[in-house]
This record gives sequence, structure tokens and C-alpha cells, in this order.
Amino acid sequence: MKVVTDVVCPFCGTLCDDIKVIMDGNRIVDTLNACVIGNEKFKSAQAGHRILAPMEREDNSAEFAPVSYDYAIERAAQILANARRPLMYGWSSTSCEAQAVGNELAEVCGAVTDNTASVCHGPSVMAIQTVGAPCCTLGEVKNRADLIIYWGCNPVHAHPRHMSRYTTYPRGFFTERGFKDRTMVVVDPRPTDTAKQADIHVQVEQGKDYELLDALRTVIRGEDIPDVVGGVKKEDIKALGDLCKSRKFGVLFFGMGVTQSIGKHRNIDIAISFVADMNKYTKFTLVAMRGHYNVTGSGQVMSWQSGFPFSMDFSRGYPRYNPGETAANDILQRQECDAALVIASDPGAHFPVSSMKYYAQIPTICIDPHETPTTGISKIVIPSTIVGVEEEGNAYRMDNVPIRCRKVCDAPEGILSDKEILERILARVKEIKAEKKGQ
Ligand code: SF4
Repeated sequence: MKVVTDVVCPFCGTLCDDIKVIMDGNRIVDTLNACVIGNEKFKSAQAGHRILAPMEREDNSAEFAPVSYDYAIERAAQILANARRPLMYGWSSTSCEAQAVGNELAEVCGAVTDNTASVCHGPSVMAIQTVGAPCCTLGEVKNRADLIIYWGCNPVHAHPRHMSRYTTYPRGFFTERGFKDRTMVVVDPRPTDTAKQADIHVQVEQGKDYELLDALRTVIRGEDIPDVVGGVKKEDIKALGDLCKSRKFGVLFFGMGVTQSIGKHRNIDIAISFVADMNKYTKFTLVAMRGHYNVTGSGQVMSWQSGFPFSMDFSRGYPRYNPGETAANDILQRQECDAALVIASDPGAHFPVSSMKYYAQIPTICIDPHETPTTGISKIVIPSTIVGVEEEGNAYRMDNVPIRCRKVCDAPEGILSDKEILERILARVKEIKAEKKGQ
């Protein structure tokens, strides 16, 4: 038995980098420090639903036939090179190195490329582009924050070690007594397991976050508000405003409860404006609870390569960005793309059925280590290694801190990495395009 230390968990945006993996030869026996989800991710490397060879499915058939990597890559390159408006989607559960190759592939193909932000924190990105982002790193939260607000998020279930590593419980430089030095507020319509641990649970009515944040901004300026806003009493809103003003360092963490409810990016606009207001009285910042371990990295890589963080359209030969028009679901729902590549994500499980019905009708390629609802309806399936378990690679934590994921074991024999698969498809697409030009 061997213990590999300082391993980075490639699951959620907390990107824990203190995992220990117990190995018996090349086999993962157990993990230490990881939460249940992280532990399962490591063990998924040797799970039964692993795909061990590329596969192809005929139109109108549910049966897949195994094919070689050379054949699958050739077919994928032909599909993408010959498509007039291909869609490339996913990217959030792979390395920055693979994402960079993917963006070049999208440019060469004149594709629309989009990451999972478009169904997740895309509204946050749009709000940040509108009103800015008073953010900080999680280390600052750990060492300084004496007020933690979780608004529309449930870290006990979605980011299980967030509270113990960075926010509520750890002892920091200026927060030596851990949770005794902090106040925790949860704003959520439901009494979630996170809300049960909070000092204060503000039970806002579903979809009334904008109104509540507006009222909060109004009371902290000393102006009057109605007796009840979003189901919360005036005195409770005033008390929350006073609490925020009285603390030395407040942090607002926000999630799907505000990005995916009525108002979407406008909810984040006003949350950011509230945080900016609070800096007149004390120190206040906010951090988006980014979901996949490297969705932030995809935004970073797209931005430094092309200027925009998601929903990027290369069809005119230069990058264009207009979520609502160029996001994956917009393209699928309008039946605009004539081919699609999905990598490191599972829209089959998470997109509206109407989008995936169209996906099932066009030539599609899915790159994924496991069988998923998306692989089940794709035409070409190409298995890949798991970054952070079988492959090194860079990832960005939810607070934009880059961390290098480690390799702890070898992948099943013959399985290629996302980066290598994309590089080979890219090289072949370039050849096909050059041949076409020469004709
Ligand atoms: S909190 Fe997230 S990153 Fe940390 S071990 Fe759990 S799933 Fe992995």
C-alpha cells in the first residue's frame, strides 16, 4: 500500500488540494480527507461504467460497435471539418491544457464553443461584465471573514468541504476562534442542511431575491421599506443590514438559487451592487460558488485566448459573444447547428429534453471516460482519461486561483487524454480544410 499526498480533488469548485489517496499498486483503495462526492470521483476511475474503447452508432440504431481510436478520430474530424455550424460544448471537467486545444479547434471549425457556465453561473459572468466584481480569494475568507452569507446555495450538499476549509469553521489568522469568531447567514426559501447550521436563516420567498436585495440596499441607506419584502419582515431586513454594517469583513457566496431563478443576471447585478454599497461601511466581497472543478478555468482560457468567457461564436472568423443567441441551448433549440462535440460534461442529463432531441438527430461526438445519458445518444463516443486521477493538468478554483491537478494512477491501457484526442482531431481537421482549399 502507498499513500499519495497533496492530491487535488477534480470534482467541485472548492478544488480541495489536501486529499490523500491510498493505492494498492495501480488500484485506488480509498481516499482520506475527500468528501463523499470527491471519494466517489476518485473511485469512478475503476468503476464498471467506464468506456474502454471508442464506439460508433449507426443512425436510427441504439447499438454501438467498438471502433479504433484512429477511425473515431478520423470520423470526428470529418464531421467537424464538413459542418457549416458545429457546436462544441462542455469543457468544465477537463484541464486548461485540453480547453486551450479545444478553443483552437473551435476557431478552425468556425464553431460555437460554450462551457457549462451557460446553464450555471453564466448570469454571474454577465453581471460582473456589467457592474464589476468585488471578489477575494478563499484564503482571505478563511483568515479574515467574520460574516459569511450563503445566498441561494447549499454547500453542505454541493460543495461539502467549503464550510470546513474556508468559511465557517476553520481557524484563520484574524479568526483564531474559528466558528466562534464568525456569524453565518443563509438566505434560502428552504430549510436546507446548510440553513440548519446557520446563525440566521432568512427564508425568502422563491424568486423574490431581487426584491429582498433591493430592500436591503434601501435600509442600509436609512430609508424606509414596506413592512414585508419577499416574505421577510421589515425588522429582520433592518437587523440583517445592521449586522452586515457591524462586521469587519463580510463575504457573500451565491449560487444557483439566484442565477437560475427569476431575474437571473439581474439578481447578481443587485447582489454585487449591495456588496459595493457595503464597502462604504466595512470590508465586503463576494464569490460565486462555481460548480465543476474547472468551469472557472474554461472561462479563463477562453478569455485569454479570445476575449470572452463562454458562449463564443467563431462562425464569422472572429470571436463573437452574445449569450441568449450564442449559448449552447440557444443554438440547439433553434436547431441551428449541423454537428456537435460534447466533452467533459453531460448535457444529456442536464439540458432540456427539447435541446437533446435535436442533438440526437445530428452527427455528434462525445468525449467522456464514462457512460452517460449523453454518450447514449451520441454517434461517435471517444473514451478519455480522468484529469486529476489519471492525468495531470491545470484547473482554476472558484476564486480564480490556479491549482495543478496531480496524477495518482495509470488509466486503463490504451486510453488517450482529452488533450491528445483534441490535438489529433485538430491536426486532421486542418489537413481536411487544407485539402478542400486546394481543390
Ligand atoms: S468539497 Fe468538492 S473538491 Fe472538496 S473533496 Fe468534496 S467534491 Fe472534492
